[in-house]
Amino acid sequence: MRLLLTLLLCLALPAHAEGFLSRLLNKPVPGGGAVIDLGDAGAAPQARFQGKPVLVVKEDGRRWIAVVGLPLTLKPGRQTLDAAGRQFVFTVGSKRYAEQRITLKNKQQVNPSPANLARIERELAEQTRAYRSFSVGTPSNLLLDKPVNGPLSSRFGVRRFFNGEERNPHAGLDFAVPAGTPVKAPAAGKVILIGDYFFNGRTVFLDHGQGFISMFCHLSKVEVRLGQQLPRGAVLGRVGATGRATGPHMHWNISLNDARVDPTIFIGAFEP
Ligand SMILES: [Zn+2]
Repeated sequence: MRLLLTLLLCLALPAHAEGFLSRLLNKPVPGGGAVIDLGDAGAAPQARFQGKPVLVVKEDGRRWIAVVGLPLTLKPGRQTLDAAGRQFVFTVGSKRYAEQRITLKNKQQVNPSPANLARIERELAEQTRAYRSFSVGTPSNLLLDKPVNGPLSSRFGVRRFFNGEERNPHAGLDFAVPAGTPVKAPAAGKVILIGDYFFNGRTVFLDHGQGFISMFCHLSKVEVRLGQQLPRGAVLGRVGATGRATGPHMHWNISLNDARVDPTIFIGAFEP
């Protein structure tokens, strides 16, 4: 009877359910992610990309998949994932990202002084260490909730020119929401870094597990402590305009294996 019930339940699933996660997350372009099937070994295989440990989860309760973050700087073409003593070859396509021109009245935010440059370098090193941390837990969910509800005001990967000078591309998503809006954890996570940075302003890093890391910045207020374990949906702070921001908005980064990737992939809103 139980077997029959299981069969009926399986039949009742929509046709797209099998391999749904792989199809949703496999966006093999610079700034995207590649999903690699690692087979059905008993224990989770360990995987590395460019020497860095990679997120491995079980799909459909039987196959292991690696979800590889692909840096924006990656060249399209053949890439290799090392896992379980084997090499898995995959192909990265290309993607054109839009350009954006921003005018800042504060010239320090375009060409910082030597003292500010030293501060920026220190802060970058601190944040890079957070992005490179790798905890063993499996993320509570890979399909993420939006940290705030609001329209996108800037997409991921946009090439940015501040007062006519090109700077780093936009490594996250901007949501247009008013100051004070609560920011919620898109998945369960541990608070691994809190800072008040030159560019990012008040910032929280949340480790969702296995190098899957969120960063929220320009906050007006941080409402969590370092080391705190947050359930999915917990409020971690309030939207603000601290750091290099032209007005209140929520900036959200997602990182996999220390590669900043497009958060729209994880909320089902990716545009090729
Ligand atoms: Zn932003």
